[in-house]
Amino acid sequence: MHTTYTHATGSGSGSSSWTACDVEGCLGEVIPRELKCLRHADVDARNRYLHGLRPVDCLLLRGVNVDQGLLDTVLHCPAITDSNTKTVNVPISLAASEISARLEFDGYTFEKHIDFSGAILLDHIRFTNCRFDRGFHSRFAFFQKGALYFVECSFSDLVDLSYTAAKNTSVGYNRCKFTKPLNADGIEATLHLDHCACESDLTIRGANAGGLILTACSIERELDLQGTHFGGFSAPYLKAAAHQLGPFCVKGSCSFAHAQFSARIQMEVEADELDLSGLQLREGGHILVDRARVRLNHLSTGRSLHVVGRSAAPVQAAILGLQGADAGAMTFAHVDMSRCMFYGAHDLGKVTIEPTVRFARTPRPYSSRRCIADEFAWRQNADSARSSRWVLPGTRRAADPKSGNVASHTVELPELEASQVASVYHDLRRSFETKSDEPGAADFYYGEMEMRRHSKQIPFAEWVIVWAYWLVSGYGLRASRAFAWLVLLIVLGGIGLANWGFVSGPTDYLTGLLYSIRAPLPGVLRDIKLTADGEMIETAVRLLGPILFALALLAVRGRVKR
Ligand SMILES: [Zn+2]
Repeated sequence: MHTTYTHATGSGSGSSSWTACDVEGCLGEVIPRELKCLRHADVDARNRYLHGLRPVDCLLLRGVNVDQGLLDTVLHCPAITDSNTKTVNVPISLAASEISARLEFDGYTFEKHIDFSGAILLDHIRFTNCRFDRGFHSRFAFFQKGALYFVECSFSDLVDLSYTAAKNTSVGYNRCKFTKPLNADGIEATLHLDHCACESDLTIRGANAGGLILTACSIERELDLQGTHFGGFSAPYLKAAAHQLGPFCVKGSCSFAHAQFSARIQMEVEADELDLSGLQLREGGHILVDRARVRLNHLSTGRSLHVVGRSAAPVQAAILGLQGADAGAMTFAHVDMSRCMFYGAHDLGKVTIEPTVRFARTPRPYSSRRCIADEFAWRQNADSARSSRWVLPGTRRAADPKSGNVASHTVELPELEASQVASVYHDLRRSFETKSDEPGAADFYYGEMEMRRHSKQIPFAEWVIVWAYWLVSGYGLRASRAFAWLVLLIVLGGIGLANWGFVSGPTDYLTGLLYSIRAPLPGVLRDIKLTADGEMIETAVRLLGPILFALALLAVRGRVKR
């Protein structure tokens, strides 16, 4: 009987064929000059075959049911394994076999390739301190019960795990070294590399993997994750030289915390959480992020870094933290920064925040302006009069006793001084002004002045001026407020003049009002004699009227410029 084993999925396929054993139901490959597979051959035939193997021959176990007894017999044969040096000198093919034996190798050297392609494995395979001079293949292998695990192994040739699948188990490498590429395209298992060194590429394309963990690994060439879906992704302290990461998708959280990239990186990722805290980008790069809540705390970048959300995304990516990050080299676009704490970010005066970035807005009944989470942090920790209505969804107070059972992604608002928030607003305003973003600059100027007004650190004289400036014209930004004061001044002046202002005695309000309106105008002759009170009122109107008018004009100009 002739047996062909074919595997195909997505982009990969392959096949091999052999003559099957004549035992009913056995698909094992027959050994040369026999009609039975190694498992079913009689003892003489089996020994004849095993002892006659030369290093160029492949040990044929394709399609064979391999149990512990058969495996032990094979591996103890001196033609296959040199027991003194623990060296396996023949290639082994276990393609499409079903292996119920537990494989544990300690200190072995595999001089030739070893092939598990399409095999079904029912128990653990563990290699400790082994050396693989030629390839290790497990394409389309299925780990039904046990895990595939390597500790302190070195691989001098290709390692091919593509389309390997595992049910509730994983493929793990601990302190291993790969000289040639490690290929895990299409893998359907959790792949865990811990303190491993890849001198070449690691490719995991088009996979649907439970998870990828790359703890403290180094990858000297590309890390190719194109089109891969992960349940979770974690690469803390990864060192990589990759240029392009993704596009890839993570169902849960994706972490590159404290990772280092030596080349300019182009990352495209969709995830729930994206943790880039402590990430070091030597050459900067471009991060296109979808959906995720992004933490950038203590991220350092040698050159410019763009953080951009996908513009058409149903859920906008949100930046949650920038403390200690090199914000001056960063550009943000199409992201939600309403919950982002800016205080403590470096070089905020040089950050580029494009108009597509969303900020929080002041609560009603305050006049609407963009404001930052830092202001909410100050207000929430200030007295209740200043914090009422200032609620920012998705955040909580640092000292909130209810904070024990809140979702982990709510941002903690630390205690800040008003002057600290003012300096953040000041820096952001400067960056908006350099980019000629007048509305942004105006909103943040208002915020800066608000924080100065509430600051306990400013001198009394300055405090009085800031208060007056706010009260009279909303820091030169609220035209209506200045106009209201102007109207009030003229009306009160008119009433005052009509009652007590004229030497001729009280007159009607219209006359008083007309006099009051004309008072600030230059070149208007005084044709009515005023009392001492009248002189006072007129001087006040004459002095304050033009100031209020100028403030109102200033505010109008500011609005028109938008
Ligand atoms: Zn057989």
